[in-house]
Amino acid sequence: MSALLEVDKVEAGYGDVQVLWGADMTVAKGETVLLMGVNGAGKTTLLRSLVGLQPCRGGAICLNGKDISALKPDARIRRGMAYMSELGVFPTLSIAENLRLGAYALSGSQASQRADQMYQMFPDLAKKRRAAAASLSGGQRKMLGLAKTLMSGADLILLDEPSSGLAPVFVSQVIETLKEVIGTGTSLLIAEQNIAFLALADRGYLMDHGRMEVSGTRAELEGSDAVRKAYFGVS
Ligand code: ATP
Repeated sequence: MSALLEVDKVEAGYGDVQVLWGADMTVAKGETVLLMGVNGAGKTTLLRSLVGLQPCRGGAICLNGKDISALKPDARIRRGMAYMSELGVFPTLSIAENLRLGAYALSGSQASQRADQMYQMFPDLAKKRRAAAASLSGGQRKMLGLAKTLMSGADLILLDEPSSGLAPVFVSQVIETLKEVIGTGTSLLIAEQNIAFLALADRGYLMDHGRMEVSGTRAELEGSDAVRKAYFGVS
C-alpha cells in the first residue's frame, strides 16, 4: 500500500513547553491507524499539527507525497484531510446547517448529495435534520460530528477521541458506524484512549511523551507489554 500520510520527526509545543519530540508515523491509503497513549502523551497536539492548527517546530508532514507542512489548515483540507476535534459540532445550529459547514469546500449540489449519503448512514440525524444540535443526545452529537467531518469527502479523516464523554452503549454505536466508514475505503487516523478502538485498526502507535514508543499491527499491539502497561498498569 502506498503512503497517504507520512509524518517525519515532527516537533511541536506551547511556548517553552515542547510536547512532540520527533513523532513519526504513516497512514497508507485505505488504512485505519490508531494513535494510543495516556492523557497528555501528545495525541491531540499531533493531530492539530497534522491539520495545521498547531505550528510545527521541526520535521515534515507529507500528504499524497507532497510536503504540506507550510500550508494553512484550509489548504490542507482542500488536499483531502479533515479533522474532528473532541468538541465536534455547533450546538445552536441545526443538524442540516452543521452538515453544510462540513462541506464548505464543495458546491451546493455536491453538498446536498453528500448530505443525503450522511442521512442514509446516520438515520437518527435524518429524522431530526431541522432540530438544533443541542437537542441531540451525547451519542447522536458525536455521530453528527462524525457526519460533519465526513461531509468533506476527504481521503483521510483524523478523529480526536471519538469516545470522549460517551456512555459505553454509545461508544459501541460509534465503533459500529466507523466500521461502515472504513467500508467506504476512507483512511482513518483515530486518537483514542479507549482500547476498544484497537479492534477497528489495521495498525497503531503507542505514544509516550511526544514520541512513538511502540508501533505495529493490531495483533502486535494486542500482545505488547508496553500497551498493556499503559492501559492496564500491568506488563
Ligand atoms: P488528552 O487525551 O488528555 O487530550 P493528549 O495525548 O491528547 O491527551 P495533548 O492534549 O496533546 O495530549 O497534551 C500534551 C501536553 O501538552 C500536555 O502536557 C498538556 O498539558 C500540554 N498542552 C496541551 N495543550 C496546551 C496548551 N494550549 N497550552 C499549554 N500546554 C498544553
